[in-house]
Amino acid sequence: MATKGRKPIIVGNWKMHKLTAPAAELATAVKNVLGGLPELEVGVAPPFTALAAVAKRLEGSKLLLCAQNCHFEEQGAQTGEVSVPMLRDLGVSHVIVGHSERRQYFGEDDALVGKKVKAVLKGGLTPILCLGELLSERESGRTNEVVNRQLRGALAGVAVEQARTVVIAYEPVWAIGTGKVATTVQAQEVHAFLRAQLRELYGGVAEEIRIQYGGSVKPDNASGLMAQPDIDGALVGGASLDAESFIGILKASR
Ligand code: PEP
Repeated sequence: MATKGRKPIIVGNWKMHKLTAPAAELATAVKNVLGGLPELEVGVAPPFTALAAVAKRLEGSKLLLCAQNCHFEEQGAQTGEVSVPMLRDLGVSHVIVGHSERRQYFGEDDALVGKKVKAVLKGGLTPILCLGELLSERESGRTNEVVNRQLRGALAGVAVEQARTVVIAYEPVWAIGTGKVATTVQAQEVHAFLRAQLRELYGGVAEEIRIQYGGSVKPDNASGLMAQPDIDGALVGGASLDAESFIGILKASR
């Protein structure tokens, strides 16, 4: 919100959904409402296979084209992988890194996520660094310890000038795709903790770094979350797959 001095950034993560035609259609619907939402930065992260089709629809638009993952090398013998220069070539500006599904199902650890963050920055794009605790970690009182380890692991070696461009997405794993949204108090507590860690790492620049919340964000819970002093936007999964619900979230987030 304007009073925080940080422009909220809301990104739809489409995960492994949508063929090229429906992807282009959804991106067009979102693009068409952006004129009325100048106070927000908005992006969509289609699957790799739909990036080119969506990019074509977005020509001349402010809607950000985001990718869901990348490899840390620029090129090489990495069958099935996609590099940052390849994404930039398609018009991608932001790359989601370290999503909990990558950590859980593809074994990504903090060191690998850190390499990807640095590769994205080196390529001149913006990383959206995801972190968040499992339910068992929250229940055993380890939330802060876990997110701090993930934050510091991923940002090790990232200089202050680059850090100011990074977007952090706090996504409690137990709230992703489950319909269980963190309460505004739970979310704000972790966001404030993360900002305090960023202050230790980067001083006053921490006030510029956007921290999104992610985990079952919907049109009816978005405004309460966005009103929190350290919540600067949202990373939206399920509710971003439908134009009406994603646009509902955007409108509720103004
Ligand atoms: C996500 O996967 O980043 C996410 C937040 O998903 P959902 O909104 O469906 O919980």
